[in-house]
Amino acid sequence: MRDAEPKMAWEATRRGIAEAMADIDGALPGSVVVRHMRCGKSSCACKADPPTLHGPYIQWTRTVDGKTVTKLLTEDQLTRYQPWFDNARRLKELTAMLQIASVHAVERHEGWTTPAKDD
Ligand SMILES: [Zn+2]
Repeated sequence: MRDAEPKMAWEATRRGIAEAMADIDGALPGSVVVRHMRCGKSSCACKADPPTLHGPYIQWTRTVDGKTVTKLLTEDQLTRYQPWFDNARRLKELTAMLQIASVHAVERHEGWTTPAKDD
């Protein structure tokens, strides 16, 4: 039974994931939604038919101490911080991958699985 190669492959996977994580220099929580809205004025263009809605409003919503916090971003700000929103998603994916690879490593080290096949 030769399992040295698959073991090394999984170690390489974990190292690769860790290296990808090391490249992330910022990650913002929450989500961004772009909205167009109506205001309270009855004679406004946003009440016309067809309506001209106000906006776009770029809303960044996140949870702080169990409360929802919303900030409006300008288009410039969104452009500037978009990479950090993308990074947060990437980090979540990488964490999930690292967990799968780590569970696999534990199962191998502890002999909890029977390999389906050698490839
Ligand atoms: Zn209006």
